[in-house]
Amino acid sequence: MMTSPTLSLRERDARAIAEIGRLRFSPLSLTGGKGNRLIEEGGRSLLDLSGSAGPAILGYGHPAIVEAVEKSMRDMAGASLLLYANEPAVSLAETLLRIVPGDVDRRVWFGHSGSDANDCALRVAVAATKRPRIISFIGSYHGNLTGSMGISGHTAMTHTLPRAGVLLLPYPDPFRPQFSADAVLALLDYQFETTCPPDQVAAIFIEPLMSDGGIIVPPAGFLKALQERCRRHGILIVVDEVKVGLGRSGMMHCFEHEGLEPDLVIFGKGLGGGLPLSAVVGPQSIMDHAPAFALLTTAGNPVATAAGGAVLRVIEEDGLIERSARIGTLFADGLRALSTKHATMGDVRGRGLAVGMDLVKDRQTREPVHPSVTAKIIYRGYQLGAAFTYVGLKANVLEFMPPLTLSEDEAAEGVAIVDQAMTDVANGRVADADVASFMMW
Ligand SMILES: *Cc1c(COP(=O)(O)O)cnc(C)c1O
Repeated sequence: MMTSPTLSLRERDARAIAEIGRLRFSPLSLTGGKGNRLIEEGGRSLLDLSGSAGPAILGYGHPAIVEAVEKSMRDMAGASLLLYANEPAVSLAETLLRIVPGDVDRRVWFGHSGSDANDCALRVAVAATKRPRIISFIGSYHGNLTGSMGISGHTAMTHTLPRAGVLLLPYPDPFRPQFSADAVLALLDYQFETTCPPDQVAAIFIEPLMSDGGIIVPPAGFLKALQERCRRHGILIVVDEVKVGLGRSGMMHCFEHEGLEPDLVIFGKGLGGGLPLSAVVGPQSIMDHAPAFALLTTAGNPVATAAGGAVLRVIEEDGLIERSARIGTLFADGLRALSTKHATMGDVRGRGLAVGMDLVKDRQTREPVHPSVTAKIIYRGYQLGAAFTYVGLKANVLEFMPPLTLSEDEAAEGVAIVDQAMTDVANGRVADADVASFMMW
């Protein structure tokens, strides 16, 4: 197809890019990005409060990533870790083994995305334990490939049947306590006693902070109680750190907040700093149960893994974990301080720079707003100069996953834009028609 110079990028996108691969919350079409700013077609600069859904953990064009990518590309140590070892991949694996706590001998597998890493962990867990069942949670998002989708519980996955043998448990939500932690544990015990014998369960997949399900921080002690049950029955604990790991939560690993000791840890998104890169870290006895079992030709290539090495180095050397905790608190407190002005603000929650704002029709009943309200705030925020998105099974939670390099001033700027956007939407400044095509899930 010919491209016409008179068409905008947005129009060409609509004609060329398949809708099945789009999740667009605003008309934002990009021609560039620098630091914590995205550059829109036409040259306008927007503050990025989305981190492009997580990968932009150091923002855009970070000099350390640019340098690492350039160097590894100019003198490229092959293009396949399957066939040949390469220095950036082995170094990154060594770093991951250092930063992931655990005293058993472990190995690292590299992939391209959180989805393939969860697929790999699922296949490895089932094959190594010779147990067919998996436990996961309603609301969880582990990926968009057949395996990872089949163990996810997001409403966006209802077009696909769950994997046979998966048990989906409710994830206790302190803000809407339809199922308490105790109730979920009792349900699990009952399942174990009846239709889900624990010795048939290979693994449980846990998001230590449920992200796409609505930025839900689990009640203290819940995950630990799950872990205790899994240990008793030899069930592997797989923690999905794809969105909230690597400093975002204010600790290196989000599972550390709950004192979890996972067997397998899944990394993605931020690990590549924008390049496709994921990893599974797990016990050697499990990972190496068979040779040549999970092969992706270009996974672990020296360019993506060099980027990953730069990301981890900057996070550690620039103190971004402490910064995420500090700026995240400032940002969330800033949002909370607006609650007297905005009746729809039901809850602001999260850890570090993984922040969600739960929008409600009524603070007493906590009934979620209609998705159009969420979409309008995002649309108005886009017009006012900030990029962010929404999550939640009822599409009522604004998600903020900015780069960990966000400054204090940028956090304040973000709060001011969200404030103004909420005021303008309450005053009817955005029409239903404006957001009709931006209500995604
Ligand atoms: C995004 C996400 C995934 C999937 O990662 P992709 O890179 O989109 O394949 C898996 N788990 C969690 C928790 C995620 O947020």
